Amino acid sequence: MSGPSTNHEMTRAQRMITRLLFPFAESIERHSRSWQVTCSCGYSKSVWERGGVRWLAAGKPRTWGKCSACSERTWHRIHQDD
Ligand SMILES: [Zn+2]
Repeated sequence: MSGPSTNHEMTRAQRMITRLLFPFAESIERHSRSWQVTCSCGYSKSVWERGGVRWLAAGKPRTWGKCSACSERTWHRIHQDD
């Protein structure tokens, strides 16, 4: 088990949130990693790897963004990986 932010440069938002909620930092990272953002082309990346944070969040199952695989700006499906 590795702690938060090994081999991943956190974005400003991630740093801010994990510092603010320090006791939960690991839980936040683990949670954010368990959520996948999938493009319509099939490319999928975790919320955390995309520089985002998802923790105790409800709703908003889609996000608008540019896919790093097909370079299209599309709606990406957010779903939990299990
Ligand atoms: Zn794509």
